Amino acid sequence: MTDVLVVGGGPAGSSSALRLARAGFEVSVLERAQFPRTKVCGEYVSPGACNALAELGLLDAIAAEAFPLRTIALAGFGTQPVRLRLPDRGALSIPRSRFDEILLEAACDAGATAIGGAFLDIERSRDRLVVSYRDRDGATRNIECRVLVGADGAFSTVAQRAGMARRRGRGGRWAIGGHLTGQKDEDALEMFVGPGGYYARNPLGNGKVNSMLVMPDARRGSDADRTVIELTKGKCRFEEDKLERRVAVGPLRYAADVAARGRVLLVGDAAGLLDPFVGQGMAIALETSSSVVTATDALLRGSRSSAIARDFAAARTSAVRPRTMLAAAVDAVIRIRPLRDRAERAIRRDPSHAESVLAALAGAVPARTALTPRALLGLIA
Ligand SMILES: Cc1cc2nc3c(=O)[nH]c(=O)nc-3n(C[C@H](O)[C@H](O)[C@H](O)COP(=O)(O)OP(=O)(O)OC[C@H]3O[C@@H](n4cnc5c(N)ncnc54)[C@H](O)[C@@H]3O)c2cc1C
Repeated sequence: MTDVLVVGGGPAGSSSALRLARAGFEVSVLERAQFPRTKVCGEYVSPGACNALAELGLLDAIAAEAFPLRTIALAGFGTQPVRLRLPDRGALSIPRSRFDEILLEAACDAGATAIGGAFLDIERSRDRLVVSYRDRDGATRNIECRVLVGADGAFSTVAQRAGMARRRGRGGRWAIGGHLTGQKDEDALEMFVGPGGYYARNPLGNGKVNSMLVMPDARRGSDADRTVIELTKGKCRFEEDKLERRVAVGPLRYAADVAARGRVLLVGDAAGLLDPFVGQGMAIALETSSSVVTATDALLRGSRSSAIARDFAAARTSAVRPRTMLAAAVDAVIRIRPLRDRAERAIRRDPSHAESVLAALAGAVPARTALTPRALLGLIA
């Protein structure tokens, strides 16, 4: 029997396992994919995610293999892009295949055990959980644990089997993209926002760019090309023929009903999927894994599980809510024409105010610092 079984070796699972192993718990990570594996993502490691990596002692290892980003070029509904400086040391971009591998290796170096296999189901008994999984040879196996952490991403099987999330709902946008080759290396993340969605280009270095179109439906081929030409006013094309491998994911709408119940904790996307426009999914996964350690400690000490669940959920809400509210406010400024026009004029006159809102949006400072009438009005004044 292990103290904790973490299902999923993405940023949420590996950082939880790393923190748990460092805190002295016996922890195993069950991951169904063979690493290195890819994951549909913009691969933008925000300043907030960089701070979380620094706190975990992993920033140097990631930065050594990442491409540095210094600015964001933002265009809304065909306006000329405005360039905003990212705060402090800027941000990073790195393929998820490598990012996730470095994190999982760090967890194993700290003492976590990696198990290859796909989670199937849970059986509860009084003081433990029996988890079944399919190993890489196709055999069904069991593992006993005292705490189970669902870090298996959006539409989490752990959440569903534990009765903590319903099946897929309707609605939600789709993302389609991949790595474009033969591109110019620039140090700016480009975002083009328009009706229904947006197109983002995140440079990865060595002539590669992460290209991602997020729309209400999964556009492909000439439809995707036409949409990108419209969103960027002809500046870019989707260039499907230059994608190393086209990936698509959706619908991007999912939230578990509860983040913790009994001995089961959900972390990262398994607890809820953020709109990728927020650009903070990895930061939240890396940060909120610290509350997995607090909750595990309390559960293993025998504290009341309802109080633990309440505190665990509150920690996630306080990490997520201000960021989504701020992103929604910025999105509204971009989408509402009179606000957009005023914001564009204000930024061209003096970008410093928008840059301080960007610092909050990027997670370099708490999002609530920009959630004041003064800060938001300053964007358009
Ligand atoms: C289109 C798009 C663009 C995005 N862009 C960005 C961005 O630029 N920056 C950013 O910070 N965030 C971005 N995000 C969000 C970010 O990708 C996620 O928030 C982040 O990956 C969450 O990490 P996680 O560990 O919770 O889940 P995941 O990264 O999804 O990891 C889950 C892991 O669990 C494993 N797993 C799943 N099911 C099982 C099972 N049954 N058994 C065993 N293992 C299992 C999977 O193989 C995977 O390794 C984006 C998301 C999308 C959809």
